[in-house]
Amino acid sequence: MTWRFALVIDPAASDDLRDDFSDTFRQIDPSAPALSVGELSTQRGDGIFESIGVVDGHAQEVAAHLDRLAHSADICDLPRPNREQWRQAVALAAAQCPPQGEGVIKLILSRGVEHGPAPTSWVTAAEAPDNTGVRERGVRVVTLDRGYGSDVPGRAPWLLLGAKTLSYAVNMAAIREAKRRGADDAIFITTDGFVLEAPTASLILQQGRRFVTPAPNGGILHGTTQLSLFEHLREEGYETAYETIPVADLSTADAVWLVSSVRLAAPVSAIDGTELRVDHGMTASFNRYLLSPRT
Ligand code: PLP
Repeated sequence: MTWRFALVIDPAASDDLRDDFSDTFRQIDPSAPALSVGELSTQRGDGIFESIGVVDGHAQEVAAHLDRLAHSADICDLPRPNREQWRQAVALAAAQCPPQGEGVIKLILSRGVEHGPAPTSWVTAAEAPDNTGVRERGVRVVTLDRGYGSDVPGRAPWLLLGAKTLSYAVNMAAIREAKRRGADDAIFITTDGFVLEAPTASLILQQGRRFVTPAPNGGILHGTTQLSLFEHLREEGYETAYETIPVADLSTADAVWLVSSVRLAAPVSAIDGTELRVDHGMTASFNRYLLSPRT
């Protein structure tokens, strides 16, 4: 990842109505040290983030990402981000992304320095890795037990399921385990046999002219890419649905995709060693749509 830009944000109250937040931003050298050793994002992974895809200088689905940042802040008892302040920070970061090609903007809102007065927040912009191969070739996945049942989100809200927290060590461990098993990526499943999501992507299954995804109240992130793609599919005359999906439905689906903001739509070519049909035509049309300017 080549870092191009970093901006530290002095977080404003969510009801601060000023038009111009430029005096709350401080541009820093993205390759220089910037965080205090007491920072709780690094000590405990205590904070939230967003990764926004950028195509030809256009930041995609900014409103949906800001909605989810606010939702994550609510779940984690962090102060609500000032929407207009973050929107202006994203616009400054987008202007620093490559005018042609793909980039990624990250928004980070940490609980701050231990015993400190305020959260720490910053925004970065970088060139995105080249995902063209994986969008065409697809990913081989294994199913991995997430270690909890489908009733856990309601029973244990302190697990912060549904928030995009900085604590991704478990997600990264799942990808390493998938690689040890000879695959590229993983699909988490519940102990009672329902499909959840991938460690860094949402899951979409095709069943004829119907597209389904696991219901977001089942302890997963509500993906902005899945939301956008479902809206597009409905406009194209397809049916879409949120469901509780048994693991067995993975092998009977006509096609399966992992979708996320930067990799976009990656078709699943094998699950637990069994080959799956890849619909190259549908995948290409998904990625054409996802690479078009979206607001
Ligand atoms: N689920 C998880 C656990 C993720 O980390 C991500 C993205 O990073 C997604 C789903 C997909 O979300 P989005 O489409 O907003 O990138």
